[in-house]
Amino acid sequence: MSLVIVGSLALDTIETPAARRERVVGGSGTYCALAASFFTRPKVVGVVGTDFPEETLRFLRRRRIDLEGLEIRPGRTFFWEGRYGQDPNLRTTLQTKLNVFQDFRPQLPDSYRRADIIFLANIDPDLQGDILRQAVKPRLVAMDTIQYWIETKPQSLRRVLGQVDIFFCNDQEAKMLTGEVNLVRASKKILDRGPRWVVVKKGEHGVLILGRHLAFGLPAKPTEHVVDPTGAGDSFAGGFLGTLDRAGRTTPRLLCQAAAYGSVMASLAIEDFGIERFKTLTTAQVNGRFRLFQKLVSF
Ligand code: AMP
Repeated sequence: MSLVIVGSLALDTIETPAARRERVVGGSGTYCALAASFFTRPKVVGVVGTDFPEETLRFLRRRRIDLEGLEIRPGRTFFWEGRYGQDPNLRTTLQTKLNVFQDFRPQLPDSYRRADIIFLANIDPDLQGDILRQAVKPRLVAMDTIQYWIETKPQSLRRVLGQVDIFFCNDQEAKMLTGEVNLVRASKKILDRGPRWVVVKKGEHGVLILGRHLAFGLPAKPTEHVVDPTGAGDSFAGGFLGTLDRAGRTTPRLLCQAAAYGSVMASLAIEDFGIERFKTLTTAQVNGRFRLFQKLVSF
């Protein structure tokens, strides 16, 4: 079993109604790999600049995340700035600077090529396509994206969408991608473009999984203290795919369990700024929250 995650490793500036933090470590690949590391040993592909903190690289290695596919290049790390209003489900992107990502061409190290699961986290869809061409018969391919790529690279995005098994998106992205306001109709249109399952994240309203023979919904794990919603989606994907990698197969029942672990990881990630919450998190805490969540959703 192995899970390869291709995504951004970033420095983020984040503003919430309560606080502002400058250049904290974030990125789709970072959040996803950290969340997945509670279930499996993820392998990361990405690029950072020389300004990326050495201490974070050490922390990722301590969590047994394989960084063979991570390049460190002269220059600055990918930078993203976002602002949240009172509603944590809504955010405004203020700046995106690709920096070292600008001319990055991802390479799958030989030891990654035969991975069981490939996750194309939110990065340029052309790079997502490059990775797929290098992978050898993965059992499962999943992808995520963001408004930025839907707007700037719609054709490339459509091409990758036709080659994946699972598409993760949020409700706004599903609607934007298909022009449908109804989530079920939007999801069906996405399924028509290739994926076997679409996983629509609805922020604090939970998640919906739709496939040809599966329709499953879960509420989000209710959380009173949302400090920084950044990375909730990527942490969800990390918990979800980490669960599927640990199981070694994909059944409808496992997809539902994966969604529950995904929700648990998302609820944990947003309890602190950036990746801070992962620094003190233990597997016992993850499992404890999973059990609470199980009680909450069963009747
Ligand atoms: P999420 O809140 O789960 O959607 O993920 C937020 C993370 O995605 C942040 O840490 C950002 O650094 C990263 N991010 C934002 N925009 C992009 C982009 N255009 N490409 C890649 N990563 C991005």
